[in-house]
Amino acid sequence: MRFGPLLLGGEREDFLANDPVDVFVIGGGINGACIARDAAGRGYTVTLAEMNDLASGTSSASTKLIHGGLRYLEFYEFRLVRESLLERETLWAAAPHIIRPMRFVLPHHAGLRPAWLLRLGLFIYDHLGGRRKLPPTKSLDLTQDEAGKPLKPQYSRAFEYSDCWVDDARLVVQNAVSAAALGATVLTRTRVTSARREGDLWRVTTEAATASREFSARLLVNAAGPWVDEVLRSAISGANSQNVRLVQGSHIVVTKKFAHDRAYFFQNTDGRIFFAIPYEQDFTLVGTTDRDYEGDPGAAAISREEIEYLCAGTSQYFREPVTPSDVVWAYSGVRPLFDDGATKAQEATRDYVLKTDSGGDRAPCINIFGGKITTARRLAEAVLDEIGLLIGGRGKPWTASAPLPGGDFAFDGFDALVAALRNQWSFLEADHATRLARLYGTTARQILGAAASPAELGRHFGANLYECEVRHLMANEWAETAEDVLWRRTKLGLRLTSEQVQELRDWMADAQIALSVPGKRVAG
Ligand code: FAD
Repeated sequence: MRFGPLLLGGEREDFLANDPVDVFVIGGGINGACIARDAAGRGYTVTLAEMNDLASGTSSASTKLIHGGLRYLEFYEFRLVRESLLERETLWAAAPHIIRPMRFVLPHHAGLRPAWLLRLGLFIYDHLGGRRKLPPTKSLDLTQDEAGKPLKPQYSRAFEYSDCWVDDARLVVQNAVSAAALGATVLTRTRVTSARREGDLWRVTTEAATASREFSARLLVNAAGPWVDEVLRSAISGANSQNVRLVQGSHIVVTKKFAHDRAYFFQNTDGRIFFAIPYEQDFTLVGTTDRDYEGDPGAAAISREEIEYLCAGTSQYFREPVTPSDVVWAYSGVRPLFDDGATKAQEATRDYVLKTDSGGDRAPCINIFGGKITTARRLAEAVLDEIGLLIGGRGKPWTASAPLPGGDFAFDGFDALVAALRNQWSFLEADHATRLARLYGTTARQILGAAASPAELGRHFGANLYECEVRHLMANEWAETAEDVLWRRTKLGLRLTSEQVQELRDWMADAQIALSVPGKRVAG
């Protein structure tokens, strides 16, 4: 695995790589990470620069569904829905640790979309996208079914259909880990400040905390998500930068509202839909809102109005009302949708659009707009087709059948993996083994190493987070801060106390210093 070189203390390094890379990717969200992985696997030389942490943009703020998008059928987005549906089982097979099937309960009632319309939509959903392993739609009698218990008695009928759940931030990191293992250089906390053409090469300037650097590349991919226009405007000056429609969506995490493992798909009286999803064992995730956004995408935050909207929407369905005091965490993300001129935010296309600036006889650039977590792998294949046309083809599509790191076990083998971990490391509690298997899959074995007791896992920071896991994340997954560990590599931020967070912060700061002293390594 190749990481970006470690640059030391305060110096400003002007570094011009003599050897241009084939592809320079701006942005370490799902799209950038998938493109870097696919390109590296086909034999291109690749550098990816992410200005913050991997998945620190939209790609950790999604509803976390690998889904066709039932509601997109209403906007006749059949191409997108079909491609997304097909991706569900492909991604599940490639990453059965971080992706799992989920059933969705969709109550129907008078006044909103009629039952026949929902049935028709679900029939299309079941048959449009090559469903093989996921079970089909069925009808539910909520007066008898467990799923009816938390709901108000007027909801007596529902449909139940299949989609998948994904740990979005980990999907990004696993793609980046795979890209690095295939030879890509992945630089985090490295902002691209300028990209200019010099003949058939790009000169790309980056700024990191300790150094400014210059790279040369044959082709530039602008996968900066909601910043895609900003990159066009400020870094690649002179380019058309009025393409993206920013749409904010927020979620709340509330104390657990129901005991079963299915999710709810609710319709609101304003015609919008939202989900209530079992989350991190003890919580329920509710979202999303959908509204146009202006300003810095990094500053998007949930408003009081959005919290109240989501609480009121959920309370229409659950017997026990959901109130703002139930909210333990909230997050907000900005969709970088292609501006297709739709009137309402929720009607703007979710499909991706690639805009190639072939550069004539000068260096080419591919700009990426829109897309979904679900379609990022397919988007990467489309980008690789384009790269092939622009700088010469290499390799063939390969990611559909290649497991992501830690995902090299059977799609239905999760319980067996947990059992195997507990068998080999007999001191592991069930919830600890399950958490490690969910986040790391078979890579959990590397993290646990030769430990024969909890004491040998190193310092305990709380909630089963041990030093060996943090060391692994710092050494192999670009984690630098406690926030990286607690909110993107894991969701243990929901469980650690503020004192425990501070302890982790202090420990990681010391470990970073150890890492940056030549000859010293944090990872054992
Ligand atoms: P990002 O993840 O934002 O990545 C872009 C990266 O570029 C950022 O990390 C940023 O820091 C970096 N960057 C920007 N400028 C620079 C620069 N100058 N130099 C270096 N780096 C830079 N999709 C689904 O499939 N399923 C869902 O359930 C789902 N739910 C969603 C719910 C909400 C509320 C939202 C907002 C989106 C949802 N999506 C969902 C869509 C999906 O999350 C996005 O399409 C996807 O995350 C976009 O990824 P990206 O890589 O384009 O952008």
